[in-house]
Amino acid sequence: MGRIRVLSDQVANQIAAGEVVDRPASVVKELLENSVDAGAARIRIEVEAGGRKLIRVSDNGHGMSRDDALLAFERHATSKLRSADDLLAIATLGFRGEALPSIASVARVTLETASDDNTATPGTRIEIAGGKILHVDDAALPRGTTISVADLFFNTPARRKFLRAESTELAHVTALVTHYALVHPEKHFELISASHTIVAAPPVARTAERIYQIFGKDTLSQLLPVAAETPLARAGLPEPPPWKKDPDNPPPQPGTLRLSGFYSKPELQKLNRNSIYIFVNKRLIRDRLLLHAISEAYRNVIPPTSFPVVLLFLEMPPEEVDVNVHPAKTEVRFRQQTLVHDFVRDSLRNALIKARPAAAFLAALESSPAASPSLMPPATSPLPGAPQSAQAATDPAAPPATISDAGSFRLTPQTLPPVAASLPFANEPLATSSLNQLAAVLLDPETAAASSAAATAEDTARIEAEQAAANLNHLAGLKALGQLRESFILATGESGLWIIDQHVAHERVLFEKILRDRQVERAQRQRLLMPMLVELKPSQMVVFARIAAELVRNGFEVEPFGPQTLAVKAAPVGLEGSALERMLSEVIEQSGAESDEPLQSQDLSSLRTRIAASIACHSAIKVNTPLDPARMDWLLQELAKTEHPTSCPHGRPIALLYSWKDIQRAFQRI
Ligand code: ADP
Ligand code: MG
Repeated sequence: MGRIRVLSDQVANQIAAGEVVDRPASVVKELLENSVDAGAARIRIEVEAGGRKLIRVSDNGHGMSRDDALLAFERHATSKLRSADDLLAIATLGFRGEALPSIASVARVTLETASDDNTATPGTRIEIAGGKILHVDDAALPRGTTISVADLFFNTPARRKFLRAESTELAHVTALVTHYALVHPEKHFELISASHTIVAAPPVARTAERIYQIFGKDTLSQLLPVAAETPLARAGLPEPPPWKKDPDNPPPQPGTLRLSGFYSKPELQKLNRNSIYIFVNKRLIRDRLLLHAISEAYRNVIPPTSFPVVLLFLEMPPEEVDVNVHPAKTEVRFRQQTLVHDFVRDSLRNALIKARPAAAFLAALESSPAASPSLMPPATSPLPGAPQSAQAATDPAAPPATISDAGSFRLTPQTLPPVAASLPFANEPLATSSLNQLAAVLLDPETAAASSAAATAEDTARIEAEQAAANLNHLAGLKALGQLRESFILATGESGLWIIDQHVAHERVLFEKILRDRQVERAQRQRLLMPMLVELKPSQMVVFARIAAELVRNGFEVEPFGPQTLAVKAAPVGLEGSALERMLSEVIEQSGAESDEPLQSQDLSSLRTRIAASIACHSAIKVNTPLDPARMDWLLQELAKTEHPTSCPHGRPIALLYSWKDIQRAFQRI
């Protein structure tokens, strides 16, 4: 007797389910993707008990015939792929034909579907439990598909144990629905949990309006748009052999890489990456490479320990990206990795440099990283299979955290009827038009949806215009009035009242100058009258030896003076005495943790910025320093010339604006 057996389909499906379905949110993901692939314009998601008891996804997509509906539950049955060649250019979200059989093997599933092409039978209802078909019936149904998944993992208790608190699972589902709603503003999304509406997003024209619908005014007003494109090179694509080359039919051009989306002003900082959403060809993915590119774009603009909010939509020809990397389809592989990485980094960085966003005083007060939760509850990874380190630690110990966090992500308030979300903000007096809207809501839900969509568009446009106006291009035209406690410069202009931190402003000016000078090997150095002796521990000496060459390029002249002592003979202009000493020990300290390997280009560039930031910090004008008017004006002019007048190299804000609008509002003049 041999030992090897072929597994039954049921077991194979359960094994596949282990990869594809690990929690309610991953079921929602698969069902949502199927609805999107079916061309649905309206998708409704209902969950009970965080999806543990019930998940129901209804769509008005093209539906299935009876035969297809039965086939859909077969393993590797898909309508989206025919041959292995198709794998190279996948235009749908699904393609593996695994989701439905996997889900059906670990839950009680009801499928109701009807399509246009089969008018003889009105529709089909199929009931399956634990992979076994229980009933197949004809049913009179409207076009579209509804799949209900009840009692997830009822037959796999080991998996059921891994489920978290209902509120956590609901938060994951919410995060997921939110993502798909963002990438498809033209579709109508609803998420309902135990008869509470959590997401209500009727179709809108633009992503900005969708952001406003889902996250509200405050989030939208802290985001800026970005759009860019670059032609893709042919590099690496197989050329047809010469005898197959057809002069009339040249091989297709590799096409274009397009980026669009939103990124946060530097004042908005998050403690983790949960507010970075990346979509490639409308597919939500996690990608280290792109996360790195985003961090690089914000380097020396926000602190290295904080993260921005970014919604990134990348579009590229399907041949450029391999989506068949992971069963949950959340990882991809780019054909031209470096190109994609650098393009994302540079597009974001250029957008930041161009926008020069000004931080509004009140927003800045609220947006220190500690004070602002991520758009999604912390520890929410909307993607199945993504690392969840924080999850295990926080979840059982502190269930209330999840609840309060779930309340703080700015979704439509649960207590309001869905349509109220798109009405003007509660704290503004109701204008006649919104009263009319309200009346319309009560009288006729259909027209109400339309008119509130118009209100969304209007509000979105207004917020965008206000944002565009609040930029630091105004800096150059400001008039300095004086100092606040010899530490902050007060200045006015058309835009409003500005408060500028003199130390960090000067720090930013110096930082960019030092990097520029360094680039052309022209660091500004000054000889010290007396060499300064610095004592170092042996371990510090090792670090010093590693970075000595870079220090020399920044204007230092240092010689050994005994086994543990250095003699500094020259230093960057503006650095002397104790500041010089502090700067040196700071850089040595910060560079200490690195390995003894020779410096790679990546480390070298971060060492460069670290040295520049440290020199800038220690030679910049201090707080509690009186400045005469000419010096203040000089500083404002110089700041205006920098690339990132928004924040200092360590990520602190430089200039805060009390906008003329806010001032008028506060004095109740408008
Ligand atoms: P895949 O999406 O990878 O093809 P699934 O197991 O998710 O595999 O679905 C199997 C097939 O069932 C799909 O290829 C599609 O033809 C059909 N299907 C699933 N969900 C829907 C839906 N909501 N509307 C129409 N067809 C659907
Ligand atoms: Mg699918």
